[in-house]
Amino acid sequence: MPELPEVETIRRDMEPYVLGRAIKAVKALRARNVLKGISAKGLQKALKGQKIEKVERRGKFLIFKLASGNCLVIHLGMTGRVLKAPDRFVKVTFMLSGGRSFYFSDIRMFGKVMFFRSYPTFKLGPEPLAPHQMVPGQADDFTVTRFAELLKGRGGNIKAWLLNQRFLAGVGNIYASEALFRAGIAPRRRAGSLNPQEILKLHRALRRVLSEGIKYRGTSVSDYRDAGGRVGGYQHRLRVYDREGKRCYKCKGPVKKIIIGQRSTYFCPRCQR
Ligand SMILES: [Zn+2]
Repeated sequence: MPELPEVETIRRDMEPYVLGRAIKAVKALRARNVLKGISAKGLQKALKGQKIEKVERRGKFLIFKLASGNCLVIHLGMTGRVLKAPDRFVKVTFMLSGGRSFYFSDIRMFGKVMFFRSYPTFKLGPEPLAPHQMVPGQADDFTVTRFAELLKGRGGNIKAWLLNQRFLAGVGNIYASEALFRAGIAPRRRAGSLNPQEILKLHRALRRVLSEGIKYRGTSVSDYRDAGGRVGGYQHRLRVYDREGKRCYKCKGPVKKIIIGQRSTYFCPRCQR
């Protein structure tokens, strides 16, 4: 599933491609399952003639800000793609001025295409890379103090905490496993039990894995592709994710896989306490 680094990679690919162009037409022929709160006809009517002013990201949401103040918002779900050239799973085609088009494609159709009259309010926690990375004004800065406040008294395990978008935006299964490994924290630890040193380590690890994920243009363990249809590069740099039974890079012991909240979680029982 695309997480913050994958959506950010797409945002960076898309912005120069669509900036300042008007949406000429929208084709949403097989899109009923991905359009949320709007019909295909409604979407065409709402977007026609609108100029794209900016492409932003909040958590895992991609936001096309239009000059009118309206917003086209896309969530990639499990297998969604935003592409400059069509593939065979295209659900919505956006035709732009100057002969360009872009496409929303989705194999499994858990993705969402949404339209808002004004900038939407997202029920999301802070942006993990803020304030170092430019994000829309709604997000709090993710400082160590803020992180400690958010964790305080939380009874669930830290892995599930990291995946909860209302606590922290943009982190999913892959980067949560990677950050916990780098911080040396076991995924089943109670979120509220982390001491100040562990909080500092995990804060640093989160920012590091997400920044590296962006640097290497995302992780393609399954369906993720960038806006040019290419695979990312971070799957070659993962330390624990998808490495069940393989040797831990730190202690040479076997990497374990457990299920937490119906999601596979990879960790090293010796290095993570
Ligand atoms: Zn280890």
